[in-house]
Amino acid sequence: MNGWCNSVLRIDLSNETIREERPGRQLLETTIGGLGLATHYFYEETHGTVDPLSPKNPVVLATGPLTGTGMASTGRACMVTTSPLTGFFLQSHSGGQLGPEIKYAGHDAIIIEGAARRPVYIFIDDDHCSIESADAVWGKGVKTATRMLEAATDPEARVLTIGPAGENLVPLATVQNDVYRSFGRGGPGAVLGCKNLKAVVVRGTKGVEVADPDAVLAHLAEARDLTHEKLQEFTNFGTTPAARKTNNGGVLPTKNFTSGRFDHIDDISGETLHEHFWKGRRACFACPIGCTQYHATGGIRSEGPEYETLFSLGSNILNDDLETLIAANELCNDMGIDTISSGVTLAWAMEASERGVIDDEVPWGDGDTILSLLRTMATREGLGETLSGGARHAAKTLGGESFAMHVKGMELPGYDPRGTQGMALSYSTSSRGACHLRAPIYVDEVFAKRQPAYTLKDKAGPVVELENTLAIADSLIVCRFSFRGIHTQSMDAFPSLIEMATGHAPTLEDLTQAAERLWTQQHLFNIAQGWTSGDDTVPDRFFSEDLDGVRLDRNDFIQTLHDYYALRGWDENGIPSEGTLTRLGLR
Ligand code: SF4
Repeated sequence: MNGWCNSVLRIDLSNETIREERPGRQLLETTIGGLGLATHYFYEETHGTVDPLSPKNPVVLATGPLTGTGMASTGRACMVTTSPLTGFFLQSHSGGQLGPEIKYAGHDAIIIEGAARRPVYIFIDDDHCSIESADAVWGKGVKTATRMLEAATDPEARVLTIGPAGENLVPLATVQNDVYRSFGRGGPGAVLGCKNLKAVVVRGTKGVEVADPDAVLAHLAEARDLTHEKLQEFTNFGTTPAARKTNNGGVLPTKNFTSGRFDHIDDISGETLHEHFWKGRRACFACPIGCTQYHATGGIRSEGPEYETLFSLGSNILNDDLETLIAANELCNDMGIDTISSGVTLAWAMEASERGVIDDEVPWGDGDTILSLLRTMATREGLGETLSGGARHAAKTLGGESFAMHVKGMELPGYDPRGTQGMALSYSTSSRGACHLRAPIYVDEVFAKRQPAYTLKDKAGPVVELENTLAIADSLIVCRFSFRGIHTQSMDAFPSLIEMATGHAPTLEDLTQAAERLWTQQHLFNIAQGWTSGDDTVPDRFFSEDLDGVRLDRNDFIQTLHDYYALRGWDENGIPSEGTLTRLGLR
């Protein structure tokens, strides 16, 4: 089958059974693949409430019809499960080389169910799949575990693994692949840890058939030209120039979101990082952009830090020391812990200490404290044990809920929604909690200035449109950085891309329907998990404290949220109507 493999591998760790299923062309065309396919299987397999840390919580790892085809920036894979951090639906995406390797082994998706009795890893080698003992790598950091698993299987294999944080069931734990690429947010590492699953190792050699190889080659050549023309800054610096841009726009979260500008921005800017620590760059599979930057200091040579880490472990905790930032980034990657959530949780601890809410000394910006607390969050020791549950958990346990900066339990990323107000709606409506990737309207509001930043008025429509468009990008799967420059930032480019790979060109209506369906499936799952419309909000700090003289207006926010629900076909309490469910085939 062109584009897709028509294969889903189902692995039950409890029974140690492995089965291959054929999803069939109709399901693949309807869901597209990637996020759409993973959401479909997850939604079909979960009924009633799901405890994130139970064997009943499935993990779906999916690729899309463009994955591994050689089309531009299509090396990503998608993971769907229930989040231990939020208790709600979790989707996470990671780059590198893993997605194509899964396709080359012959699979569109892998569903992992149950839990092993002892530490194991899954080894997929083309048609072979086995469950192997992970005793030798349990307890190892991501770098060591990856090296050992490559040596034990195939040096060309791609390794997806958890670090000690995942083994310790830390709700902020990541799943890493290719060492530095992360399924980062919402704690998927703890889900694997709970399954006693240290790693998935994949080696594939079969390639992927595409419907129109000449068109694929022409597309790649055009993508190279467009990269040169429009995305050179991304190639040269990655995401790090955003630190100065958000600071200039007054939305760089600083001191636990009490300011939008950092006095020491020159010390942690992307330009300074590049000038003093840059060592090289690399690209994910088939990506002409190659935005990943290597930096080194002392004995550390590491991918990143990216913009989100510069804010979370930099300005937001008043850390102006790039050497500490690089060391903290490396530590988080090796222990397998999310840099955004851990940084925002540290900011909560620093404010709690300053206000006397906790007795512990947690000084702002202190390098030794930062590194020590990150380590103990991963190992769950001392104050780190409480912080390892994230800012919401720490505040519920110790007090200080008014300055725990999260949505649905997930800590906020690096765009203060008082200065990019569309993000207030985007954070609120994201099914996984505060997320900058579902509808990154800050690009239009702060960087490109195509939309007014300081108002919520008329933002429901653009947010829904972005959510739908990017849901399809995540189903194909194409990297959203390339999407900005190469793929025209709209749904219009997608039918021809899908046709090049699969031979089937969906209509724009088909794609919009697929996006609406997967959003509603995710939402229905969250409703079953106990969601109410009160969960669709942002921290009170944004309504009650000014940023450059501006705060969010609560009435405007509620009105915009209702506009959003109406556009999705949900009632004013956020419950999908019968008509919507029927239209989307979800009755
Ligand atoms: S733009 Fe960067 S993150 Fe995206 S696929 Fe290319 S190298 Fe990977």
